[in-house]
Amino acid sequence: MRFLLLIFIILSSTLNIGCSVKSSKKSDFLMNVSQLDEEEEIYLQKKILINEMLFSSKTLHQISWPILKNNKDKCSKTNSYSFGILFASAEDLPKKDRKYFQPILNDNISPVYLKRYNTENLPVIVSVAKNSPAYKSNIIEGDIVLKINNLEVKGFRKKLRSAYSSSSLLTLTLLRNNRVLEKKINGIIACNYNIQPIPSAAPNAYADGEKVYITLAAIKLARTVDELAFLIGHELAHNIFHYKYFHGSEANTMTINYMDAPKIKNLNSFFLVSTQKKETEADLKGVEIAFKGGFALNNVNDYWRRLSVFNPSLISSSSANYKSNALRAILISKKLKELRNNAEE
Ligand SMILES: [Zn+2]
Repeated sequence: MRFLLLIFIILSSTLNIGCSVKSSKKSDFLMNVSQLDEEEEIYLQKKILINEMLFSSKTLHQISWPILKNNKDKCSKTNSYSFGILFASAEDLPKKDRKYFQPILNDNISPVYLKRYNTENLPVIVSVAKNSPAYKSNIIEGDIVLKINNLEVKGFRKKLRSAYSSSSLLTLTLLRNNRVLEKKINGIIACNYNIQPIPSAAPNAYADGEKVYITLAAIKLARTVDELAFLIGHELAHNIFHYKYFHGSEANTMTINYMDAPKIKNLNSFFLVSTQKKETEADLKGVEIAFKGGFALNNVNDYWRRLSVFNPSLISSSSANYKSNALRAILISKKLKELRNNAEE
């Protein structure tokens, strides 16, 4: 599995190098391009990237919250509470990109507040899951975080993790329409795996024990929330039943950190994994998990059919690692039929 991933990485970097200017001396046609021109264009492209990450993060959040909540019986060993909020913080971005945070996500904040809280930027709430504790406490998208449990937001993720694991009560001091609000949220027990988008042109999904990564290409290939719920369910099944990892925190869900990637040491991918038995188990348990999350999973096998176009050899050939896409789709249909019959009884 690492071998194929490696080939993919090598191929992508070769393509990138092939298209860039190799010479250190600027060629004639680049003579009239100023550094400022280049910086402006870099900003525009980073802005598109960050907005795409934000949009995809929200999409995955709304689908994964009910799945994580309704499967809490499988995650009772967790030691961190869940609140149903996604944040974006400048600290999540690579250092060289932090200057883009203010114009993209903090542009509506009066400098008075930045001065008062002694900071160049403030974390923003970018998604509130429907019917989550945060939703019930009337937290809304776009709220700016001034304090967590009365502490400054410097070292944001660390403070958030500590707050989530120490008490079910979270106090957020927020800025909304130039008004400062204090909100208390009562956390609940749910599965604490982070479901995140990851930039990649290949439709795939990964689990590394702690997190689930769905590639931007996979998100774009999916046509219904059911299809994404199925993908999430499959990867969650790896984290719950194969990695048996229960020490995660909802506070670790990254929204704009496009550099965050699965830990290669533990990597498990939608296609390239250890054994056929584990893969089939992840498909079947994954369907159960997503179904329990409230998703009907109608026509979910359409995803396989569309996916097979990218890898025609997977349509009919099984290997030691995975069953063919045709067999996987049939098994999933049978499992769904069984779940629907049970639900009707
Ligand atoms: Zn898998």
